Amino acid sequence: MMAKRVEIVGAGLAGLVAGINLARRGHEVLIHEGRERMGGDLSYADSTLMDVRAMRDEVGVEVEEALEAWTLTRAWAYGKKYEFGLPRGVEGFTVERGKGERSLENVLYRQAVAAGVEVRLGSRLSKQEIKELPPGSIVATGLDREAFEALDLPCRPFFCHMATGRGDPSRPSVIIYLDSFTREFGYYFQRGEAAGALVFSVQRPLTDGEKEEFKRKLADGDGIEFEGWNDSVAAWAAWPLGSWSNRCLFRGNLILAGTLAGLVSPVLLFGVNGALVSGKVAATAVADRDAALREFRRLAPLYRPQFAFRKCREYLPHAALKPLTRAILATYHPDFFPWAMLFALWPPGYRVYRQDEKSEAKDCREARL
Ligand SMILES: Cc1cc2nc3c(=O)[nH]c(=O)nc-3n(C[C@H](O)[C@H](O)[C@H](O)COP(=O)(O)OP(=O)(O)OC[C@H]3O[C@@H](n4cnc5c(N)ncnc54)[C@H](O)[C@@H]3O)c2cc1C
Repeated sequence: MMAKRVEIVGAGLAGLVAGINLARRGHEVLIHEGRERMGGDLSYADSTLMDVRAMRDEVGVEVEEALEAWTLTRAWAYGKKYEFGLPRGVEGFTVERGKGERSLENVLYRQAVAAGVEVRLGSRLSKQEIKELPPGSIVATGLDREAFEALDLPCRPFFCHMATGRGDPSRPSVIIYLDSFTREFGYYFQRGEAAGALVFSVQRPLTDGEKEEFKRKLADGDGIEFEGWNDSVAAWAAWPLGSWSNRCLFRGNLILAGTLAGLVSPVLLFGVNGALVSGKVAATAVADRDAALREFRRLAPLYRPQFAFRKCREYLPHAALKPLTRAILATYHPDFFPWAMLFALWPPGYRVYRQDEKSEAKDCREARL
């Protein structure tokens, strides 16, 4: 294998995973990161299902330092409360993000530097510079709308109203709010004593009335109140839900990774797991496009069904969504994972890796016979 010089745009989750894997294979890697410091200026937490062992064995990165396990989730569907545990064998985590030493981007950054990756901070590439990147470069710019525009990728504007503050460790670490104030969802996260709440909207900003309604649900349902709400993710962010074919690994001579590649779960917007997995696929694509494409399709089998499901959700009136959402939540049981929950929750790669695990176990059993 010939060692190459590879440029990557974005030192986020996907870009760093790609860089780590490429540097370990002997390539010279330069990552351009637009921010002046790793993780930016905020501290917050995401939540996701994750197979930590597959992250280590298949994706090649250690992530545990940034994770804290959760076992209980609460969901409010149009005012009705549901409490549920995770399905057997499934692990859920809150993930520290942002500027902190233990944030996932900083945990990966240290592994990247140790592998010999050069990360150039404060190096934001313009649309023109992205278009003119050398062939085989990787673009992993996350939600940033400019890269979608530079590469002419369909996308939808994405808005978020958010607050962070101190939490109450006696609450479940993740609470989801599905209600008429948005067609997406709101949620509360808790990591140690740090906590936050946010509500998303796609295509148009939330109205003041919708924002207030979300805050009312937080306060009335769970006694949660925050100061200092802001719309900082508004106006510049995009989500790869513009079309049926958004999930794509290549754009001309460039390789896409993370959010930009559409490796997300469009129903709940969860993307941490997909971003990590797709960083590994992008690294494979540098040397072997066909193998990477096969891997990409294998790891994200649910994009199109989820896209279709989500489109239905978007056009149904809340009067129909209310019984539908409640029915899905009511049929949930941790020992029985109905297909509807599988659609909603399975992050890219998770199911496929675990299937491999099952077939490996089967192979071992057969070898013993
Ligand atoms: C408010 C919010 C809440 C979320 N909650 C969850 C959640 O609970 N669970 C979950 O799974 N996912 C969640 N997500 C999504 C998750 O954060 C993303 O899916 C994940 O970070 C995507 O990783 P990425 O590598 O694609 O992009 P990122 O990790 O965002 O990295 C992109 C990097 O590229 C850099 N960049 C952008 N443009 C340029 C440029 N032109 N030049 C140089 N650098 C550039 C950025 O500065 C950034 O560092 C949330 C997202 C947001 C915004």
